[in-house]
Amino acid sequence: MDPPKDRKEGETSHLGAIVLLVMFGILAALVCGETWRALKALPPYVGRTLTEEETAEVIAGNSPLTSYVYLSPNADFPRNAKISKITIHHMAGQLTLEELGASFAKRDRNASSNYGIDSSGKVGLYVEEANRSWASSNAENDHMAVTIEVANEEIGGSWKVSGEAYQTLIDLCADICRRNGIERLVYTGGPDGTLTVHKMFADTECPGPYLESRMAEIADAVNEKLEDEGSSSW
Ligand SMILES: [Zn+2]
Repeated sequence: MDPPKDRKEGETSHLGAIVLLVMFGILAALVCGETWRALKALPPYVGRTLTEEETAEVIAGNSPLTSYVYLSPNADFPRNAKISKITIHHMAGQLTLEELGASFAKRDRNASSNYGIDSSGKVGLYVEEANRSWASSNAENDHMAVTIEVANEEIGGSWKVSGEAYQTLIDLCADICRRNGIERLVYTGGPDGTLTVHKMFADTECPGPYLESRMAEIADAVNEKLEDEGSSSW
């Protein structure tokens, strides 16, 4: 054989191997990219305004007391523990349900709660109960807890909440307990209870002196409702 021709053939197959390698590399990058995107993709209905039908579908899997839905991307989908607690927060402001939703929609805020209650006693849903909200500065608690932000009628001072918001808070807690099999709410003043507050986990005033001083009262009122509902079903 003619040596130069040999060399040429050798070069051709070498080039073929490089082309194959490059193609394999591109393919691998595409597959990895798709997998990464699928993992990072947010569930449907998150981060956008929903239609009436979609809103009804979301509410059907959560509290029927809900009247407003805007699902926040600031959450872990799904939570990694069974719901066994409720954690109370205050908004540190008098926000509407829409304003709270807009605040939780900002990804760089890194904050959310499952529910919010405005001063008229209406309920907003921001993170479905199946998912973990970023509310209490404590992942372990938030994976176990349904978190609720309550609007303040007094800004500063005792951070009082309205009578309507307070009553809805009791109704919502009872509803969450009933649907999730929490038999009673127990407030121990520490993170071991089934009723917890934000300040147990972080250097914060949240939920403010007004709500904090009423935690045992809230637990009693919720348990009374649960007992009434339990006896009326017999
Ligand atoms: Zn809080």
